Amino acid sequence: MIPYGKQEISEQDKLAVLEVLASDFLTQGPKVPQLEEQIASRVGAKYGVAMNSATSALHAACLALEVGPKDIVWTSAISFVASANCAIYCGAEVEFVDVEPGTGNISVQDLEKRLIEAKQAGKLPKVVIPVHFAGQPADMVAIGKLASQFGFRVIEDASHALGAEYEGGQVGGCQDSDITVFSFHPVKMITTGEGGVATTNSIELYSRLQRIRSHGITRDPNSVESEFEGDWFYDQIEIGFNYRMTDMYAALGSSQLTQLDNFLSRRRKIASKYTALLENTPHSQLVQVEGRRSSWHLFVIKVDSASSRKVVFDKLRQEGVLVNVHYRPIYRQSYYARMNKYDVDSFPGAEEFYSRIISLPIFPSLTEQEINKVVNCLVSSPGHQTIF
Ligand SMILES: *Cc1c(COP(=O)(O)O)cnc(C)c1O
Repeated sequence: MIPYGKQEISEQDKLAVLEVLASDFLTQGPKVPQLEEQIASRVGAKYGVAMNSATSALHAACLALEVGPKDIVWTSAISFVASANCAIYCGAEVEFVDVEPGTGNISVQDLEKRLIEAKQAGKLPKVVIPVHFAGQPADMVAIGKLASQFGFRVIEDASHALGAEYEGGQVGGCQDSDITVFSFHPVKMITTGEGGVATTNSIELYSRLQRIRSHGITRDPNSVESEFEGDWFYDQIEIGFNYRMTDMYAALGSSQLTQLDNFLSRRRKIASKYTALLENTPHSQLVQVEGRRSSWHLFVIKVDSASSRKVVFDKLRQEGVLVNVHYRPIYRQSYYARMNKYDVDSFPGAEEFYSRIISLPIFPSLTEQEINKVVNCLVSSPGHQTIF
């Protein structure tokens, strides 16, 4: 069996976790701020706030930007459901933007068109959440320009994109956004088991994110609203959650981060190998835009025709290649479809994309032999000629 993605845990990773287990702090000790600083410095942001998942971090990011009932949040039609759910948690309405069929990333053209219409209708979004699909950055400069023109805030869902580069800068530096969120789920670029981090350059958003992560409580004497009563004192000034990361997770994250460059280079090698081998097949890979460097969280192919996708997918699975499909458009999920407000016809890019995609295995320890096996299965797949 070859999975589509999996973690790589070293001896050093195991020792890092064991060391925490023998220490005084299992949660919110020294390892959490250490990981936050390492991530922030790696991606070129001022601050990082680690949480127990990227889903928590997305929710906290929406709350930090004051998303609430009556607000509208837009995200990409092709993503994991968490990109949209975070706005629902806040009581907001979710709308989707179509994707570019070549990359699976949010279509800036469609975004602009919808913004002009929304402005006329008085229904502009408060926040837009672009997703760096498969690890390839979305067009952040263009999105940043639209944000200032139409007055919305931006959260980058970079769950796939730790280590990805955009115009020479690292994703996560928040040059064109307010907050960026990364995931440390085992299939992602580095792992803490469960976990995620939000990066930002704003000190206000930083303290807001920290507060929401821990029940809405602060000990900062400048933020408390009631009178200081003694050294035991803390004040809950808003509603928050327990979204904290443990020190075991954070120690694993720091240890994994030292491997990130190795993981990236291995993933990039696998991607170029697939690219070369795919030339002998009728299938294509996603368009890679100049000036953007993918982290290759996923290697997505587009099968030559929608009618042969299922055949190719089933063949690979039968051969023990555990391919996947990332993603079924979020508006197709029953929870969202039931709202009866999303018209499939207004997402031609997402529909075309979804009908043809398959995610091939990609992870640092994938071997040459395994890559060859995957591509051989693709070559020997019965093509569209068997379908009528
Ligand atoms: C994995 C993922 C998430 C959620 O990450 P968790 O850490 O599992 O909560 C959110 N958005 C996208 C695009 C993802 O791929």
